[in-house]
Amino acid sequence: MKIGFIGLGNMGAPMAANLVAAGHEVIGFDLVAPCPDGVATAASAAQAARGRDVVITMLPNGAILRSVADEIIPEMDKGALFLDCSTVDVESARAVADQAQAAGRLAVDAPVSGGIGGAAAGTLTFMAGGSDAGFTMAKPLFDIMGQKAVHCGASGNGQAAKICNNMILGATMIVTCEAFALADKLGLDRQAMFDVVSTSSGYSWSMNVYCPAPGIGPVSPADNDYKPGFAAELMLKDLRLSQQAAEAVDADTPMGRAAADLYAQFVENEDGKGRDFSAMLPRFEKRHRS
Ligand code: NAD
Repeated sequence: MKIGFIGLGNMGAPMAANLVAAGHEVIGFDLVAPCPDGVATAASAAQAARGRDVVITMLPNGAILRSVADEIIPEMDKGALFLDCSTVDVESARAVADQAQAAGRLAVDAPVSGGIGGAAAGTLTFMAGGSDAGFTMAKPLFDIMGQKAVHCGASGNGQAAKICNNMILGATMIVTCEAFALADKLGLDRQAMFDVVSTSSGYSWSMNVYCPAPGIGPVSPADNDYKPGFAAELMLKDLRLSQQAAEAVDADTPMGRAAADLYAQFVENEDGKGRDFSAMLPRFEKRHRS
């Protein structure tokens, strides 16, 4: 396919490189980042979009996505696919999809999980929202850039799935970390705690796969001085998106709100910025009951 790729940062660059390696013709545009090897450089987003079968965006937020969409949708061919893989608010995802469809383009929102490692290895999970026709057209590209793609329904539902998942993840990581810190104070050995919880009803991805305690369980960012991994500020971004969405549809999400508040405190007022989101454990270790 002829693909345009806009936003070639930490995630976009390796995703675009994998498309090239699979034999697709890719032209890229980024305001700052250089195009990876094999990706031709466009002078503008509009140029990257013109005459392409698919235009992929991997951008920081909904406001930027909306401004890029304004620029590229009129340039895209009729029937071409606008495939946004950024994590953005549900409203922006639905707005740009409506705009694309009104202009006769297909649109799919497909945020990812799997991080920079998954982008490089081509093992991302895509959560997709949009029409069957759009999903079908995107599927061969999902198969190159990822290992799993779930069609979650209409436009915006990919973003909805992503922020619900990450709301669960954020809250679960916090409680896993506070439980380890409590266990320490109760004199319970961390290995024993892991052995029990990872095989009992408290088990979770945070405990079993991404254990926040160094030297316990499988290798995780905790074993690398809490270098990300998944940075605390990215978790904060996703938790804020989940609160914005909850606000918009009048959903009561007290645990999600508490998680958003705590990551905001950690990132903005403490030493959380640039650390993995599991660095909540050393944070709790140092604290006392307030
Ligand atoms: P990044 O900041 O490394 O990359 C974003 C790129 O977009 C930058 O290179 C920037 O120059 C470019 N950009 C900004 N405005 C632009 C414009 N108007 N036109 C063209 N390019 C523009 O961010 P990232 O880590 O690659 O993340 C991209 C998206 O993926 C975000 O929405 C993020 O939430 C999501 N995401 C990231 C991760 C992760 O682990 N990094 C994991 C899952 C999802």
